[in-house]
Amino acid sequence: MVNRCAAAAVAAASAGALWHIGPAATWLPQVRERFAPGLDGRGSPGHIALTFDDGPDPDTTPRFLDALDRLGVRATFFVLGERLLDDRRLARGMLDAGHELGVHGWSHQKPWFPEPHREAADLARTADAISDLGAAPPTWYRPPYGILTAGRRRAAARARLRPVLWTAWGRDWRPAADRRSVLADLSRRLTGGATVLLHDSDYTSTPGSWRTTLDALPDLVSWCRAAGWRVGTLGDHGVGRTRTAVQETAVEEGRDLGTP
Ligand SMILES: [Zn+2]
Repeated sequence: MVNRCAAAAVAAASAGALWHIGPAATWLPQVRERFAPGLDGRGSPGHIALTFDDGPDPDTTPRFLDALDRLGVRATFFVLGERLLDDRRLARGMLDAGHELGVHGWSHQKPWFPEPHREAADLARTADAISDLGAAPPTWYRPPYGILTAGRRRAAARARLRPVLWTAWGRDWRPAADRRSVLADLSRRLTGGATVLLHDSDYTSTPGSWRTTLDALPDLVSWCRAAGWRVGTLGDHGVGRTRTAVQETAVEEGRDLGTP
């Protein structure tokens, strides 16, 4: 009997773990393209969405703001709530410069265990921290490491945030990354409508990796413009034609909120 109970408990725990972590398989581009095509942030064919994760960083983010200003480009920054509160003036300056702020999380955690209440609270307070700057409530959520668990998906829906990952990345966090490798990695999946993932901070990357990203930025923008693509924020990317997280959750729960 004890063994049967133990087996049932293990089975229930395994099912719970699968429910929690299974949806995170959308981290893989091939899985995302096949099963969750709306998640990669593909937008209008004539536009590239430029996005940066892991800031704001008082040492590095201002350098990106200067570079983007020189290039005449606005971008979407997925910020961490705890870092934003460290330098609200910097975050306010990002908005004033026309950039968009999205939610990356309160802190940069790996979600190996289900913590639905903490995750919901963390996303809500990060969204509030952005709104408290005087901005409109944020639209976008990109989970740390791109790991979108079932719990994170629900937390995003409750905070009325739309999860979005990326279609092209520069793998700029790696120790071996340099300007050429970042551009080469991006070029493999850079097509019209792409959402590009880079980092404006080395918070979770190789120390100093932000220099590589900054070096690659002018060439990336030149490439896009030579191809006839405008470069800008997710808000200008034309991603609005698929279901929002709120609507997807409603469908999962058997409710119908109507057309997007
Ligand atoms: Zn990150």
